[in-house]
Parts: sequence; structure tokens; C-alpha cells
Amino acid sequence: MTTFPVDDPPATAPTDLAGVRSGPLADARAQLAKAAQILELDEGMHQMLATSRREINVTIPLRRDDGTVELFSGYRVQHNVSRGPGKGGLRYSKHVDLDEIRALAMLMTWKCAIVELPYGGAKGGVTIDPRAYSATELERVTRRYTSEIMPMIGPERDIPAPDLGTDERTMAWVMDTYSVNKGYTIPAVVTGKPLEIGGSLGRPTATSAGVVHTLAAAIAERGLHVKDVSVAIQGFGKVGAHAAAILAEQGARVVGVSDEFGGLFRADGLDVPALFEHVERTGSVVDFPGADAISNEELLALEVDVLVPAAVEGVLDEQTASKVRATWVVEGANGPTTGAGDAILAERGVVVVPDILANAGGVVVSYFEWVQANQAYWWTLAEIEEKLAERMHKGYADVADLARRENISLRDAALCIGVRRVAEAHEIRGLYP
Ligand code: NAD
Repeated sequence: MTTFPVDDPPATAPTDLAGVRSGPLADARAQLAKAAQILELDEGMHQMLATSRREINVTIPLRRDDGTVELFSGYRVQHNVSRGPGKGGLRYSKHVDLDEIRALAMLMTWKCAIVELPYGGAKGGVTIDPRAYSATELERVTRRYTSEIMPMIGPERDIPAPDLGTDERTMAWVMDTYSVNKGYTIPAVVTGKPLEIGGSLGRPTATSAGVVHTLAAAIAERGLHVKDVSVAIQGFGKVGAHAAAILAEQGARVVGVSDEFGGLFRADGLDVPALFEHVERTGSVVDFPGADAISNEELLALEVDVLVPAAVEGVLDEQTASKVRATWVVEGANGPTTGAGDAILAERGVVVVPDILANAGGVVVSYFEWVQANQAYWWTLAEIEEKLAERMHKGYADVADLARRENISLRDAALCIGVRRVAEAHEIRGLYP
């Protein structure tokens, strides 16, 4: 491995790896450190990969519908662009901060490399609770945020997509703002757009379909099919709800679901299509008839075959991980398991299919959407589903093979594959003085 020494970092170098002691960034860096150790990366390369390539921090003033003005912080981070343009979601949440966005951007770098997409990793966010603002207010925030990060994004630079708290409507505003400023329509600047303006068939359910492909591949190692297993899912948003629907369609028993307001349990399986209607009507899974109310903590501890955390990060920590009774945890969310939680799950023999593999279906179909937009030629749903299945099963097989060969966890194997591919790209490209 070529050495890239970092001889004299400035005192404020963002590579001060000891500076972040807990939270998603510390966890992401600890995961990288483990992979770096297994791969025997030199310290200069390790530090480069632990550090964002570009970061932008913007202030977004919003004139509210009542005439008052409020300010929000927004971020866009490109963790690494050595394999291609940055790719990663845009998150609206009151918990967003720069370290969270840095961590998520880093995970995107490894994820894109694992499923062999020609992208680097990026992420964006605005510290806002989207539920507390009207659609017109969110449109103004999105357009101002987009204008502020314009120099950093673009179809060949960095391509946002939906994430927690954003959706295809948000992407339409980003695309429109970018296109109007450039003077012509540029659909490939975002993915996860509505179909009418260049979105891809299959994108809204892609992450969930990918979760189900990796879940199926993992349980198949023990001779099981989706129809044989019971599942609990935390989060009933874009990822969790569609995962529940696909699993139920394929015959799994979805016995527990939850959202930020609470959870549900029904031993012989929930009626998922009826639950969709209930959520459409009420905005939450809570109070769905015919099921017992449970807390999010209880959901994580349900006696099920598979647990799918598909909400927010850090939910499987020291306390909750020791109560997990599932045989498999398939990480629909990004970073749902803390470092300490991961160690406890490993000790207890729970198989964790890691986020950077399990939820990669979204970015895979985002890639298909970007390819289609660049070619102005759209594929059929059958083509997309087939190509997605192929990539997810190949991704799982690569990771599982390495895990078996080296006797390491699926997470460590996935990280090693992702990190190695990115490190190789750096090596081949060389270091620009
Ligand atoms: P979403 O906003 O559509 O849904 C989030 C769901 O989680 C909602 O049901 C919400 O009520 C619930 N939730 C929020 N806070 C919670 C809490 N503290 N406890 C329990 N439930 C809570 O978001 P999404 O797009 O479904 O994303 C969910 C996760 O999946 C995130 O970690 C995201 O980064 C990740 N992810 C999303 C995609 C995608 O394509 N949307 C792709 C890859 C990864």
C-alpha cells in the first residue's frame, strides 16, 4: 500500500480523530479504524479516509407564513469523491448536526463502493423539524438551501436524494431551483424525483426491496425463505413501510412495527395494506385496530426471527442490544447500531446485515435513475427490479464470502470491501501535490 504521510497536520486539522468521542461520527470512524487495521492501511491513508473531502455549512433564513423570520443551519458534506461524484441523501430533522452528516457521508462512500457504483459518498441536512412547517415554508427552505449549496452539487459533482424527512417533492424543488439557476432542465442533479420529471420506476421502493433481498440472502444461509420468518420493523416511513409491504407480500409474518409515536404487535401478523391506509389517514401506526400497543423499546426486544431497524441511528445501544431476541438484524436505517451495541449483538450470536449493504438498494436505483436521466432513456420496471436484485445479491455474496474466509462479521467484511476499493482508487489516482 502506498504511503501518504500526513507529516505536519495543522492544529485544527479535521483529522483530529480523537476529538469526537461519541455519536455517529465516532462510531463511523471506529468502524473505519477496524477495517484499516484488517486491511493494514497506512496511517496517512487511514486519516484521509477518516476525513471529509469538502464541507459546506450554510445559514438558511426562512420567512414564515406569518411574516416572521427564522434561521436554520444546513450542511452538505462530500466525504470522498475518488471513485466518482458524491452521492447521498438530504435529511431534514431537528437532530441534524455537522458530525451526523459527516458520518452519514462516510457510510455512503463505503456503500457505493460495496455495490460497485461509480460514486463517492456525500450527505446533506437541514436542522429543521419538517412536521412543524407548512409545505410552502419547506419549499422556501429547500430552494434557499439549494441555492446556498449550488457550487457543490451537480450531475457530475454531487447528486442529492431523499432521506429522513425529505421526499420526492423535496427533490423536485431541488432540481427546479438548480435548473432555473443554470438556465436549462437538469434532471440528473438529484435522484428520487417524481416520475413525471425524470424519476425512475422502482425508486420509491428500492431501499426496501434491497433490504428484503439481503434479508432473504442472509436467512437462506440457514435454509429459510422469507415466508418462513417473523419480522419486527422499527420505522414506518419510506424504508420501513415498504419493507413491511414487500415482506408481507412474500409471506413473512410482520408481527411488529413502530414509528416515532409508538408501536404495534400482533402475534399472527399485521394486515399491512390496512395499516398503510390507517397511517395515510392518521399519520401514525398508533391506534391501529386489532393490535397491541407497544413501545419502541419493546419492539426492539420482540421475539422474532428478524429485526429491521428502519428509523434513526443509535437505537441498538448497550442497553437495547442486550435485549434483542431476533436471530438476524437487517439494518434498513443508517447507523442504527452503536459500536457498543454491535459488540453485544456479536457476543450474543445475532447476525447483523450492516446498513452499508442492507440499505444500498436506494442508491443502486438512484444510480439507475441518474444513468437514465443522463441518457434521456427510461427503463421498464422489470429491468430495474432485475438489475437491483442482481446487484444486491452480488453485494451480499461478496461480503458473506469475505466474512467466511476471514472469519469476521458481515459488517467488518462489508467495510473492508468498501474501504479497500476506495483506498485503491486513491492509490491508482495518486496524490495531487
Ligand atoms: P422517513 O422520514 O420516511 O421515515 C422515518 C420513520 O422513522 C418514520 O416512521 C418515523 O416516525 C420513524 N421514527 C423517527 N424517529 C423515530 C424514533 N426515535 N423511534 C422510532 N421511530 C422513529 O425516513 P426513511 O427515508 O424511511 O429513512 C429511515 C432510515 O433509513 C434513515 O436512517 C435513512 O438514513 C435510511 N435510509 C433511507 C433511504 C431512502 O431511500 N429513503 C435509503 C437508505 C437509508
